[in-house]
Amino acid sequence: MAQLSPILKQATGVVAARGEGVLLFDEDDRRYLDFTAGIGVTSTGHCHPRVVEAAQKQVATLIHAQYTTVLHRPLLTLVDRMGEVLPTGLDRMFFANSGSEAVEAALRLARMSTGRPNVIVFHGGFHGRTVAAASMTTSGTKFRSGFSPIMSGVTISPFPNPTHYGWTEDEATDFALRELDHILQTVTAPHDTAAFFVEPVLGEGGYVPANTRFMAGLRERADRHGIHLVIDEVQTGWGRTGEFWGSDHFDVTGDILVTAKGLASGFPLSAIAARADIMEKAWPGSQGGTYGANAVACAAALATLDVIQDENLVANSAERGAELKAALQQVADQHKSITDVRGLGLMIGCEFRDADGNPDGVTAAAAQQEAVRRGLLLLTCGGWGQVVRFIPALVVGTDHITEAISIWEDSVAAVTA
Ligand code: PMP
Repeated sequence: MAQLSPILKQATGVVAARGEGVLLFDEDDRRYLDFTAGIGVTSTGHCHPRVVEAAQKQVATLIHAQYTTVLHRPLLTLVDRMGEVLPTGLDRMFFANSGSEAVEAALRLARMSTGRPNVIVFHGGFHGRTVAAASMTTSGTKFRSGFSPIMSGVTISPFPNPTHYGWTEDEATDFALRELDHILQTVTAPHDTAAFFVEPVLGEGGYVPANTRFMAGLRERADRHGIHLVIDEVQTGWGRTGEFWGSDHFDVTGDILVTAKGLASGFPLSAIAARADIMEKAWPGSQGGTYGANAVACAAALATLDVIQDENLVANSAERGAELKAALQQVADQHKSITDVRGLGLMIGCEFRDADGNPDGVTAAAAQQEAVRRGLLLLTCGGWGQVVRFIPALVVGTDHITEAISIWEDSVAAVTA
């Protein structure tokens, strides 16, 4: 009998049998409130009827039509419809299956279109697990150590992370921009630097939002030096943060946008979108893949977009997110161990610190596990696993939030008493 790899870590121990909106049921039909949403993937909730219908219809019509052999209508329609939501000017698209693949496609494109070898990433960023994407990932050594040599040509610059540095947002932003200039002056010259890769909100790195001045600083330096600004919206896209794209909060448009996760409500689909003048410089043959833009995944993405628009899910993300954050702050106010509640829309983290002010991954994990025992699925993130994150599907209602907060309150009390 074969077994799963023993290091494939299980955050909850639940064997899921079926899902319905914000709810998951295990094989004994125990009900869980799912505030993990498949790590921010099931944007329209589990098995939204319109997504199910679109996928079922597509399965019965055409499952796989390899997109460099033949084209298919769900893909062509999706490309067309993406124009409704993509930032102005980013209207050339390439599709793959996972976030990591899309990040690597963006990396290849940035290098090819600039002829420059290096990239700058921001400390705490997560960009994926394939070797190049892992080499650009600095949210935890577990993602990048043990399989060296990792890819060269990556320089790490500070992210404006006020909680980590113990500074105000302004101080952290001044520092981050000053160090970026320092790096461009002393480590990787602008003429050697193809791109900045940045998340609008650090995801795996601890749910830390960037800010308008920092993003404007990146945009200005990118323009000044002919460097591409690549915005990794894999976790922050599709309404997750209460705007369609996380970068919308900061009035910034990148040169290349990377998207995946919420795009197809759970079907594997990822994409990059770039300006035409950049995409034209990709080398022939550098984009392709057996499964990219699978017809069923594209049909699910189209239904996802319809649902997000028709059910006003971006607004729901902003409104329910504000409710959730305020309620989580109230819980934090009762517990010294939770030192920060932060995030945008339905992407909220609660940070745990010990009495000495050090990141406390042990208490965070205990609270997360206790919540799971009590029927609320949650995940942790952050370099020390010190942040418990709340990322329900965008269809979440006030009643779900009230129930989740009650479980969370009891869970934190139980492990910090
Ligand atoms: N970028 C970001 C911002 C992510 O959050 C993730 C996944 N957590 C990835 C890239 C990688 O995506 P995937 O796991 O689909 O390869």
